Amino acid sequence: MYERLLVRYGDLNLKGKNRHHFIDAVDRLIREKLAELVVRLDFRHDRMYVILGDTPYEEVIRRLNRVSGLYSYSPISKCAVDLDEIARLAVLMIDRKTEKKPTTFKVETKRADKTYPLTSQEISPLLADRILPAAPYLIVDVHHPELVLSVEIRPDGAYLFTEQIRGMGGYPVGIGGKALLMLSGGIDSPVAGWLTMKQGVEIECLHFESTPLTAIESVQKVIDIVEILAAYAPYSRIRLHLVPFEPLHAEIIRRIPESYLITIMRRMMYRIAAGVVETTGCLAIVNGESIGQVASQTLESMACISRVTDRLVLRPLATYDKVDIMAIARRIGTFDISIRPFEDCCTVYLPKNPVIRPDATIAESLEAAFEYEPMVAAAIAGVKTLVLTPGDHFDITARGLVVKECL
Ligand code: ATP
Ligand code: MG
Repeated sequence: MYERLLVRYGDLNLKGKNRHHFIDAVDRLIREKLAELVVRLDFRHDRMYVILGDTPYEEVIRRLNRVSGLYSYSPISKCAVDLDEIARLAVLMIDRKTEKKPTTFKVETKRADKTYPLTSQEISPLLADRILPAAPYLIVDVHHPELVLSVEIRPDGAYLFTEQIRGMGGYPVGIGGKALLMLSGGIDSPVAGWLTMKQGVEIECLHFESTPLTAIESVQKVIDIVEILAAYAPYSRIRLHLVPFEPLHAEIIRRIPESYLITIMRRMMYRIAAGVVETTGCLAIVNGESIGQVASQTLESMACISRVTDRLVLRPLATYDKVDIMAIARRIGTFDISIRPFEDCCTVYLPKNPVIRPDATIAESLEAAFEYEPMVAAAIAGVKTLVLTPGDHFDITARGLVVKECL
């Protein structure tokens, strides 16, 4: 029934050069994500068509849902520019869509072919006159119809559609530069990474691993999450940097009083992240912090922790409710991985009474008690990098119990 899929691009308020960048980037992503399908692509200036052949449009949408910058899709049926033929096809489409239940409706016509003798305003009522007798369950309502039949008169035929399916939205990933995502195995940080890509910013991932203090399975979770996120990335590929955090982690546990343990640990993470940012060409650090979620995410805590670096830090989830974060995690497919029960360095040895309003002066004096700079430098120097793509199924647990012996 459907001959093609109309794909509309997102934010078209962009002007001039930015608009070109947007369109070039989104076109490239579309070509890449649809490369395995036998379809033909027809790019126009603010939209494109996927000519379906034998490919179901649902399969095309499933893949295009991983392209940020797409606003919506409409499966299109095509016929000759003849009012009787258009009406016949329209009734078929509407019958199927409404299951012949009473539905309010209107026809909307656009005349893209200006050589066609009738205007849009003339065509719509002529079509309604032909459709209504064949579909008596329809009730015309031009103000708030449940169903809009859109008809576009084009030089190569009439295009009909009744649906507008929302796409991922945002900007094509890559046009906004690159950021370094602090990725734990939890629910939040993968969602923060996805939202960052959706906004046009490519990501590299940074994970602090504390094997053998923590289980190798906690690193496997992160690998599996990156493989899911990679489906949204340019070339379906994301770099995962694994930081050997155990020596510093163990030292912090030894040296720092329990109430400041998380504060100091997170300050060390930020220092290391800032160091890795330098070597990767990333413009910002991204993390999954959400105001109020835990003791380390009060504003006082976040301020005390992030003052160790003057790098730009993005917190896409700062104002999100947990339920909304979980809904996105389910939608993008990271939720089930995130809830696997393995502790990472933030949950193992969790203090009972962490300080809720840490004081930067106290944090600094606690840190002054040990030589952490060489350990931070060693952690940065010891980073191991994996490049992951969706089908990899990279199994680190089969290689050993400690990351530095696995890679
Ligand atoms: P998440 O669900 O993402 O783990 P969370 O609510 O459990 O977040 P925390 O454990 O306090 O919160 O961590 C806050 C943020 O710090 C995380 O969202 C993540 O960006 C970063 N983070 C925490 N642990 C790690 C880790 N082991 N490696 C990399 N980043 C981490
Ligand atoms: Mg966590």
